[in-house]
Amino acid sequence: MLERGEVANSWRRERWDSLRLLTPNWQSRLPGLRYEGPDPDGYMTAGEVSEFIGRFAKVSRAPVRTGVNVTSVRRAGEGYQVTTSRGEIHARTVVIASGACNQPSVPPFSGAVPASVAQVTPFGYRGPAQLPDGGVLVVGASATGVQLAAELRRSGRPVTLSVGEHVRLPRTYRGRDVLWWMDASGLWDQRYDEVEDLTRARRLPSPQLAGTPERATLDLNALTAMGVGLVGRWAAVRDGRALFSGGLRNVFSLADLKMERLLDTFDEWAKTDGYDAEAGPPERFAPTRVPETTRLQLDLRSGEIGAIVWATGFRPDYRWLDVPVVDAKGQLNHEGGVVDSPGLYALGLPVLRRRRSTFICGIEDDAREVIGHLARFLAARR
Ligand SMILES: Cc1cc2nc3c(=O)[nH]c(=O)nc-3n(C[C@H](O)[C@H](O)[C@H](O)COP(=O)(O)OP(=O)(O)OC[C@H]3O[C@@H](n4cnc5c(N)ncnc54)[C@H](O)[C@@H]3O)c2cc1C
Repeated sequence: MLERGEVANSWRRERWDSLRLLTPNWQSRLPGLRYEGPDPDGYMTAGEVSEFIGRFAKVSRAPVRTGVNVTSVRRAGEGYQVTTSRGEIHARTVVIASGACNQPSVPPFSGAVPASVAQVTPFGYRGPAQLPDGGVLVVGASATGVQLAAELRRSGRPVTLSVGEHVRLPRTYRGRDVLWWMDASGLWDQRYDEVEDLTRARRLPSPQLAGTPERATLDLNALTAMGVGLVGRWAAVRDGRALFSGGLRNVFSLADLKMERLLDTFDEWAKTDGYDAEAGPPERFAPTRVPETTRLQLDLRSGEIGAIVWATGFRPDYRWLDVPVVDAKGQLNHEGGVVDSPGLYALGLPVLRRRRSTFICGIEDDAREVIGHLARFLAARR
Protein backbone atom coordinates (compact mmCIF):
# COMPACT_ATOMS: atom_id res chain seq x y z
CA MET A 1 0.00 0.00 0.00
CA LEU A 2 1.58 3.18 -1.17
CA GLU A 3 0.59 6.52 0.40
CA ARG A 4 2.20 9.79 -0.64
CA GLY A 5 1.55 11.43 2.74
CA GLU A 6 0.59 9.89 6.08
CA VAL A 7 -2.16 7.43 6.96
CA ALA A 8 -5.51 9.32 6.69
CA ASN A 9 -3.78 12.03 4.72
CA SER A 10 -6.93 13.61 3.29
CA TRP A 11 -8.45 13.90 6.77
CA ARG A 12 -5.22 15.41 8.16
CA ARG A 13 -4.44 17.85 5.37
CA GLU A 14 -7.47 18.63 3.27
CA ARG A 15 -10.27 19.45 5.72
CA TRP A 16 -11.26 22.67 7.49
CA ASP A 17 -10.92 23.06 11.28
CA SER A 18 -14.57 22.71 12.31
CA LEU A 19 -15.46 19.83 9.97
CA ARG A 20 -17.29 16.88 11.44
CA LEU A 21 -18.51 13.85 9.54
CA LEU A 22 -22.09 14.15 8.37
CA THR A 23 -22.50 10.42 8.95
CA PRO A 24 -23.21 9.40 12.57
CA ASN A 25 -20.54 7.58 14.59
CA TRP A 26 -22.32 4.22 14.54
CA GLN A 27 -22.08 4.37 10.75
CA SER A 28 -18.30 4.85 10.83
CA ARG A 29 -17.12 1.32 10.30
CA LEU A 30 -14.20 -0.23 8.53
CA PRO A 31 -13.71 -3.97 8.04
CA GLY A 32 -13.47 -5.40 11.58
CA LEU A 33 -13.45 -1.99 13.28
CA ARG A 34 -16.44 0.00 14.40
CA TYR A 35 -17.06 2.97 16.64
CA GLU A 36 -17.31 1.83 20.22
CA GLY A 37 -17.20 5.20 22.00
CA PRO A 38 -19.81 6.76 24.27
CA ASP A 39 -21.68 8.75 21.60
CA PRO A 40 -22.86 6.48 18.75
CA ASP A 41 -25.29 9.14 17.51
CA GLY A 42 -22.65 11.91 17.44
CA TYR A 43 -20.42 12.93 14.54
CA MET A 44 -16.62 12.59 14.48
CA THR A 45 -14.36 15.60 14.07
CA ALA A 46 -11.76 15.42 11.28
CA GLY A 47 -9.14 14.70 13.97
CA GLU A 48 -11.19 11.80 15.30
CA VAL A 49 -11.58 10.42 11.76
CA SER A 50 -7.77 10.51 11.35
CA GLU A 51 -7.37 8.64 14.65
CA PHE A 52 -10.01 6.09 13.65
CA ILE A 53 -8.32 5.38 10.31
CA GLY A 54 -4.91 5.34 12.02
CA ARG A 55 -6.21 2.75 14.48
CA PHE A 56 -7.55 0.68 11.58
CA ALA A 57 -4.14 0.77 9.86
CA LYS A 58 -2.62 -0.64 13.07
CA VAL A 59 -5.17 -3.33 13.91
CA SER A 60 -5.47 -4.53 10.31
CA ARG A 61 -1.68 -4.53 10.05
CA ALA A 62 -2.00 -3.00 6.59
CA PRO A 63 1.42 -2.93 4.93
CA VAL A 64 1.36 0.85 4.37
CA ARG A 65 4.44 2.56 3.00
CA THR A 66 3.95 6.24 3.74
CA GLY A 67 5.73 9.10 1.98
CA VAL A 68 5.70 7.20 -1.33
CA ASN A 69 4.16 9.19 -4.17
CA VAL A 70 3.02 7.23 -7.22
CA THR A 71 3.97 9.27 -10.26
CA SER A 72 3.08 6.76 -13.00
CA VAL A 73 1.27 3.47 -13.52
CA ARG A 74 1.55 1.97 -16.97
CA ARG A 75 0.88 -1.37 -18.59
CA ALA A 76 4.02 -3.51 -18.81
CA GLY A 77 4.04 -7.14 -19.92
CA GLU A 78 1.48 -9.12 -17.91
CA GLY A 79 1.01 -6.40 -15.29
CA TYR A 80 1.84 -2.81 -14.46
CA GLN A 81 4.99 -0.79 -14.01
CA VAL A 82 4.55 1.55 -11.05
CA THR A 83 6.92 4.49 -10.79
CA THR A 84 7.14 6.08 -7.35
CA SER A 85 9.16 8.75 -5.59
CA ARG A 86 11.03 5.80 -3.98
CA GLY A 87 11.70 3.71 -7.07
CA GLU A 88 10.03 1.27 -9.45
CA ILE A 89 7.68 -1.61 -8.66
CA HIS A 90 6.25 -4.24 -10.97
CA ALA A 91 2.78 -5.42 -9.96
CA ARG A 92 0.54 -8.03 -11.53
CA THR A 93 -2.52 -6.16 -10.31
CA VAL A 94 -3.09 -2.62 -9.09
CA VAL A 95 -5.94 -1.27 -6.94
CA ILE A 96 -6.53 2.45 -7.37
CA ALA A 97 -7.67 3.76 -3.97
CA SER A 98 -6.39 7.28 -4.41
CA GLY A 99 -9.68 8.96 -3.54
CA ALA A 100 -12.54 10.69 -5.34
CA CYS A 101 -11.89 14.16 -3.92
CA ASN A 102 -8.22 14.97 -4.63
CA GLN A 103 -8.83 18.46 -6.01
CA PRO A 104 -11.47 21.11 -5.51
CA SER A 105 -13.51 21.73 -8.69
CA VAL A 106 -13.60 25.43 -9.49
CA PRO A 107 -15.32 26.88 -12.59
CA PRO A 108 -12.95 28.36 -15.18
CA PHE A 109 -14.52 31.84 -14.88
CA SER A 110 -12.95 32.14 -11.42
CA GLY A 111 -9.98 33.47 -13.39
CA ALA A 112 -12.05 36.56 -14.31
CA VAL A 113 -12.78 37.50 -10.67
CA PRO A 114 -11.14 40.86 -9.82
CA ALA A 115 -7.86 40.48 -7.92
CA SER A 116 -9.24 42.59 -5.02
CA VAL A 117 -11.48 39.66 -4.02
CA ALA A 118 -9.79 36.77 -2.18
CA GLN A 119 -10.66 33.28 -3.42
CA VAL A 120 -10.41 30.13 -1.36
CA THR A 121 -11.34 26.47 -1.83
CA PRO A 122 -12.26 24.01 0.93
CA PHE A 123 -8.68 22.67 0.72
CA GLY A 124 -7.25 26.07 1.65
CA TYR A 125 -10.01 27.18 4.04
CA ARG A 126 -9.42 26.61 7.75
CA GLY A 127 -11.86 29.03 9.43
CA PRO A 128 -13.55 32.45 9.19
CA ALA A 129 -10.63 34.38 10.74
CA GLN A 130 -8.47 33.60 7.74
CA LEU A 131 -10.67 35.56 5.29
CA PRO A 132 -10.28 39.31 4.74
CA ASP A 133 -12.96 41.62 6.16
CA GLY A 134 -16.19 42.10 4.30
CA GLY A 135 -18.93 39.97 2.83
CA VAL A 136 -18.36 36.41 1.71
CA LEU A 137 -19.86 34.78 -1.36
CA VAL A 138 -20.08 31.03 -0.86
CA VAL A 139 -20.59 29.20 -4.13
CA GLY A 140 -22.39 25.85 -3.99
CA ALA A 141 -25.13 24.70 -1.60
CA SER A 142 -24.22 21.08 -0.97
CA ALA A 143 -22.75 19.78 2.30
CA THR A 144 -19.56 21.87 2.15
CA GLY A 145 -21.29 25.08 1.01
CA VAL A 146 -24.08 25.04 3.58
CA GLN A 147 -21.67 24.18 6.40
CA LEU A 148 -19.23 26.96 5.50
CA ALA A 149 -22.02 29.51 4.87
CA ALA A 150 -23.40 28.79 8.37
CA GLU A 151 -19.98 29.01 10.01
CA LEU A 152 -19.14 32.30 8.28
CA ARG A 153 -22.53 33.79 9.10
CA ARG A 154 -22.14 32.81 12.77
CA SER A 155 -18.79 34.60 12.78
CA GLY A 156 -20.68 37.80 12.00
CA ARG A 157 -19.96 38.07 8.26
CA PRO A 158 -22.54 39.07 5.68
CA VAL A 159 -22.88 35.88 3.63
CA THR A 160 -24.41 35.30 0.21
CA LEU A 161 -24.86 31.73 -0.97
CA SER A 162 -25.04 30.86 -4.65
CA VAL A 163 -27.40 27.90 -5.07
CA GLY A 164 -27.63 25.43 -7.95
CA GLU A 165 -29.01 21.91 -7.98
CA HIS A 166 -28.88 20.47 -4.48
CA VAL A 167 -30.09 17.62 -2.30
CA ARG A 168 -32.24 18.76 0.62
CA LEU A 169 -32.55 16.50 3.67
CA PRO A 170 -33.72 16.99 7.25
CA ARG A 171 -31.11 15.94 9.83
CA THR A 172 -33.62 13.78 11.67
CA TYR A 173 -36.83 12.17 10.48
CA ARG A 174 -39.48 10.59 12.69
CA GLY A 175 -37.08 10.69 15.63
CA ARG A 176 -34.10 9.08 13.85
CA ASP A 177 -31.09 10.35 11.97
CA VAL A 178 -32.07 10.61 8.30
CA LEU A 179 -29.06 8.45 7.42
CA TRP A 180 -30.45 5.74 9.72
CA TRP A 181 -33.44 5.67 7.34
CA MET A 182 -31.15 5.41 4.29
CA ASP A 183 -29.46 2.48 5.95
CA ALA A 184 -32.44 0.66 7.48
CA SER A 185 -34.72 1.01 4.45
CA GLY A 186 -32.05 -0.61 2.27
CA LEU A 187 -31.74 2.44 0.00
CA TRP A 188 -28.00 2.65 0.56
CA ASP A 189 -27.68 -1.03 -0.40
CA GLN A 190 -29.08 -0.43 -3.86
CA ARG A 191 -26.48 -1.86 -6.24
CA TYR A 192 -24.85 0.08 -9.04
CA ASP A 193 -26.41 -2.16 -11.70
CA GLU A 194 -29.88 -1.50 -10.27
CA VAL A 195 -29.54 2.29 -10.22
CA GLU A 196 -31.61 3.80 -13.02
CA ASP A 197 -29.24 6.58 -14.09
CA LEU A 198 -25.85 5.53 -12.76
CA THR A 199 -23.88 8.39 -14.33
CA ARG A 200 -26.19 10.87 -12.64
CA ALA A 201 -26.15 9.00 -9.32
CA ARG A 202 -22.36 9.10 -9.33
CA ARG A 203 -22.40 12.85 -9.94
CA LEU A 204 -25.10 13.66 -7.39
CA PRO A 205 -24.04 16.47 -5.04
CA SER A 206 -23.62 15.66 -1.34
CA PRO A 207 -26.76 16.21 0.78
CA GLN A 208 -27.29 19.41 2.76
CA LEU A 209 -26.31 17.86 6.08
CA ALA A 210 -24.00 18.82 8.93
CA GLY A 211 -22.94 16.76 11.91
CA THR A 212 -23.52 18.97 14.95
CA PRO A 213 -24.17 18.02 18.57
CA GLU A 214 -27.64 19.62 18.27
CA ARG A 215 -28.46 17.41 15.25
CA ALA A 216 -29.91 20.51 13.62
CA THR A 217 -31.18 20.58 10.04
CA LEU A 218 -29.05 22.82 7.84
CA ASP A 219 -31.22 23.43 4.80
CA LEU A 220 -31.73 26.71 2.97
CA ASN A 221 -34.58 27.72 5.29
CA ALA A 222 -32.23 27.35 8.27
CA LEU A 223 -29.62 29.46 6.49
CA THR A 224 -31.99 32.27 5.49
CA ALA A 225 -33.28 32.32 9.09
CA MET A 226 -29.67 33.03 10.11
CA GLY A 227 -29.50 35.92 7.63
CA VAL A 228 -27.69 34.24 4.73
CA GLY A 229 -28.75 35.78 1.39
CA LEU A 230 -29.47 33.43 -1.53
CA VAL A 231 -28.69 33.93 -5.21
CA GLY A 232 -28.98 31.52 -8.14
CA ARG A 233 -26.32 29.43 -9.77
CA TRP A 234 -23.26 31.49 -10.70
CA ALA A 235 -23.16 31.45 -14.50
CA ALA A 236 -20.43 33.92 -15.58
CA VAL A 237 -18.27 36.94 -14.76
CA ARG A 238 -18.68 40.00 -16.95
CA ASP A 239 -16.84 43.30 -16.41
CA GLY A 240 -16.13 42.42 -12.81
CA ARG A 241 -19.72 41.42 -12.11
CA ALA A 242 -20.87 37.99 -11.02
CA LEU A 243 -23.94 36.96 -13.02
CA PHE A 244 -26.38 34.51 -11.46
CA SER A 245 -29.16 32.42 -13.01
CA GLY A 246 -32.74 33.26 -12.10
CA GLY A 247 -35.30 30.57 -11.46
CA LEU A 248 -34.51 29.87 -7.81
CA ARG A 249 -38.17 28.91 -7.37
CA ASN A 250 -37.74 25.95 -9.77
CA VAL A 251 -34.48 24.83 -8.21
CA PHE A 252 -36.09 24.90 -4.75
CA SER A 253 -39.25 23.07 -5.76
CA LEU A 254 -37.24 20.31 -7.44
CA ALA A 255 -35.18 19.77 -4.26
CA ASP A 256 -38.34 19.90 -2.11
CA LEU A 257 -40.09 17.39 -4.37
CA LYS A 258 -37.18 14.96 -4.32
CA MET A 259 -36.99 15.17 -0.53
CA GLU A 260 -40.75 14.48 -0.27
CA ARG A 261 -40.39 11.44 -2.52
CA LEU A 262 -37.55 10.11 -0.41
CA LEU A 263 -39.58 10.59 2.79
CA ASP A 264 -42.50 8.77 1.10
CA THR A 265 -40.14 5.87 0.39
CA PHE A 266 -39.11 5.80 4.05
CA ASP A 267 -42.76 5.85 5.17
CA GLU A 268 -43.67 3.00 2.83
CA TRP A 269 -40.74 0.95 4.09
CA ALA A 270 -41.73 1.64 7.72
CA LYS A 271 -45.26 0.44 6.98
CA THR A 272 -44.27 -2.76 5.19
CA ASP A 273 -41.47 -3.61 7.62
CA GLY A 274 -43.61 -3.08 10.70
CA TYR A 275 -41.56 -0.14 11.96
CA ASP A 276 -44.50 2.29 11.80
CA ALA A 277 -45.61 1.89 15.41
CA GLU A 278 -42.08 2.33 16.77
CA ALA A 279 -41.21 5.50 14.81
CA GLY A 280 -42.70 8.90 15.45
CA PRO A 281 -45.45 10.06 13.09
CA PRO A 282 -44.56 10.89 9.46
CA GLU A 283 -43.35 14.47 9.09
CA ARG A 284 -43.47 16.91 6.22
CA PHE A 285 -41.33 20.06 6.08
CA ALA A 286 -42.09 23.62 4.98
CA PRO A 287 -41.17 24.27 1.34
CA THR A 288 -37.94 26.16 0.79
CA ARG A 289 -38.78 29.85 1.11
CA VAL A 290 -38.18 31.81 -2.08
CA PRO A 291 -36.70 35.28 -1.39
CA GLU A 292 -39.01 38.16 -2.37
CA THR A 293 -36.35 39.57 -4.63
CA THR A 294 -33.26 37.79 -5.89
CA ARG A 295 -30.17 39.51 -7.12
CA LEU A 296 -29.12 38.47 -10.58
CA GLN A 297 -25.72 40.13 -10.36
CA LEU A 298 -23.19 41.32 -7.84
CA ASP A 299 -20.50 43.91 -8.52
CA LEU A 300 -17.31 42.27 -7.32
CA ARG A 301 -15.41 45.60 -7.53
CA SER A 302 -17.74 47.42 -5.12
CA GLY A 303 -16.07 46.10 -1.95
CA GLU A 304 -19.29 44.38 -0.81
CA ILE A 305 -17.66 40.97 -1.28
CA GLY A 306 -14.23 40.51 0.29
CA ALA A 307 -13.87 36.79 -0.38
CA ILE A 308 -15.28 33.95 -2.42
CA VAL A 309 -15.41 30.41 -1.06
CA TRP A 310 -15.68 27.86 -3.87
CA ALA A 311 -17.74 24.98 -2.51
CA THR A 312 -18.35 23.68 -6.02
CA GLY A 313 -17.33 20.08 -5.46
CA PHE A 314 -14.24 17.93 -5.74
CA ARG A 315 -12.76 15.69 -8.39
CA PRO A 316 -10.23 12.89 -8.53
CA ASP A 317 -6.71 13.35 -9.86
CA TYR A 318 -5.48 10.64 -12.21
CA ARG A 319 -2.64 12.56 -13.84
CA TRP A 320 -0.28 9.79 -12.67
CA LEU A 321 -2.30 7.05 -14.38
CA ASP A 322 -0.75 6.30 -17.78
CA VAL A 323 -3.39 3.75 -18.81
CA PRO A 324 -6.19 4.95 -21.14
CA VAL A 325 -9.05 4.37 -18.68
CA VAL A 326 -10.01 7.95 -17.79
CA ASP A 327 -12.85 9.65 -19.69
CA ALA A 328 -12.98 13.21 -21.05
CA LYS A 329 -14.53 14.39 -17.77
CA GLY A 330 -11.62 12.99 -15.76
CA GLN A 331 -13.58 10.02 -14.33
CA LEU A 332 -12.33 6.45 -14.28
CA ASN A 333 -14.04 3.93 -16.61
CA HIS A 334 -14.95 0.97 -14.45
CA GLU A 335 -17.68 -1.59 -13.93
CA GLY A 336 -18.27 -1.83 -10.20
CA GLY A 337 -14.58 -1.21 -9.48
CA VAL A 338 -13.29 -3.50 -12.22
CA VAL A 339 -11.36 -1.09 -14.45
CA ASP A 340 -11.30 -1.53 -18.19
CA SER A 341 -7.71 -2.89 -18.21
CA PRO A 342 -6.86 -6.44 -17.03
CA GLY A 343 -5.75 -6.55 -13.40
CA LEU A 344 -6.62 -2.92 -12.69
CA TYR A 345 -9.18 -2.22 -9.94
CA ALA A 346 -10.67 0.76 -8.11
CA LEU A 347 -12.13 1.33 -4.64
CA GLY A 348 -13.48 4.37 -2.83
CA LEU A 349 -15.47 6.03 -5.63
CA PRO A 350 -19.08 7.31 -5.48
CA VAL A 351 -21.70 4.56 -6.02
CA LEU A 352 -18.85 2.20 -6.97
CA ARG A 353 -20.88 -0.97 -6.26
CA ARG A 354 -23.79 0.35 -4.21
CA ARG A 355 -25.11 3.70 -3.06
CA ARG A 356 -23.26 3.48 0.26
CA SER A 357 -19.91 3.23 -1.59
CA THR A 358 -19.75 7.04 -1.47
CA PHE A 359 -19.27 6.87 2.30
CA ILE A 360 -16.72 5.37 4.66
CA CYS A 361 -19.18 2.63 5.68
CA GLY A 362 -19.35 1.47 2.05
CA ILE A 363 -15.83 0.11 1.83
CA GLU A 364 -16.34 -3.20 3.64
CA ASP A 365 -18.69 -4.83 1.11
CA ASP A 366 -17.02 -3.14 -1.88
CA ALA A 367 -13.54 -4.30 -0.89
CA ARG A 368 -14.71 -7.88 -0.37
CA GLU A 369 -16.28 -8.02 -3.83
CA VAL A 370 -13.56 -6.17 -5.75
CA ILE A 371 -10.76 -8.11 -4.10
CA GLY A 372 -12.74 -11.30 -4.77
CA HIS A 373 -12.62 -10.46 -8.47
CA LEU A 374 -8.90 -9.67 -8.21
CA ALA A 375 -8.20 -13.02 -6.50
CA ARG A 376 -10.10 -14.90 -9.22
CA PHE A 377 -8.19 -12.98 -11.88
CA LEU A 378 -4.86 -14.01 -10.35
CA ALA A 379 -5.99 -17.61 -9.84
CA ALA A 380 -7.10 -17.90 -13.48
CA ARG A 381 -3.74 -16.63 -14.66
CA ARG A 382 -1.90 -19.13 -12.53
C1 LIG B 1 -15.17 17.42 2.67
C2 LIG B 1 -15.50 15.96 2.72
C3 LIG B 1 -16.35 15.49 3.71
C4 LIG B 1 -16.68 14.14 3.77
N1 LIG B 1 -17.53 13.72 4.75
C5 LIG B 1 -17.82 12.40 4.84
C6 LIG B 1 -18.67 11.91 5.88
O1 LIG B 1 -19.20 12.68 6.66
N2 LIG B 1 -18.91 10.57 5.96
C7 LIG B 1 -18.35 9.68 5.08
O2 LIG B 1 -18.59 8.48 5.21
N3 LIG B 1 -17.56 10.12 4.07
C8 LIG B 1 -17.29 11.45 3.93
N4 LIG B 1 -16.49 11.91 2.92
C9 LIG B 1 -16.02 10.97 1.95
C10 LIG B 1 -14.72 10.41 2.53
O3 LIG B 1 -13.62 11.22 2.30
C11 LIG B 1 -14.45 9.18 1.99
O4 LIG B 1 -15.52 8.32 2.26
C12 LIG B 1 -13.12 8.59 2.51
O5 LIG B 1 -12.22 9.50 3.09
C13 LIG B 1 -12.51 8.06 1.29
O6 LIG B 1 -11.35 7.39 1.64
P1 LIG B 1 -10.39 6.96 0.50
O7 LIG B 1 -9.26 6.29 1.20
O8 LIG B 1 -11.11 6.23 -0.56
O9 LIG B 1 -9.91 8.33 -0.18
P2 LIG B 1 -9.03 9.48 0.44
O10 LIG B 1 -9.41 9.76 1.85
O11 LIG B 1 -9.06 10.62 -0.53
O12 LIG B 1 -7.58 8.84 0.46
C14 LIG B 1 -6.83 8.65 -0.72
C15 LIG B 1 -5.36 8.61 -0.33
O13 LIG B 1 -4.59 8.36 -1.50
C16 LIG B 1 -3.42 9.15 -1.43
N5 LIG B 1 -2.97 9.35 -2.81
C17 LIG B 1 -3.63 9.97 -3.81
N6 LIG B 1 -2.89 9.98 -4.93
C18 LIG B 1 -1.74 9.34 -4.64
C19 LIG B 1 -0.57 9.03 -5.39
N7 LIG B 1 -0.44 9.36 -6.68
N8 LIG B 1 0.44 8.36 -4.76
C20 LIG B 1 0.31 7.98 -3.46
N9 LIG B 1 -0.75 8.26 -2.71
C21 LIG B 1 -1.78 8.94 -3.29
C22 LIG B 1 -3.86 10.43 -0.76
O14 LIG B 1 -2.77 11.09 -0.14
C23 LIG B 1 -4.89 9.93 0.25
O15 LIG B 1 -4.34 9.68 1.52
C24 LIG B 1 -16.15 13.25 2.82
C25 LIG B 1 -15.29 13.72 1.82
C26 LIG B 1 -14.97 15.06 1.77
C27 LIG B 1 -14.06 15.54 0.68
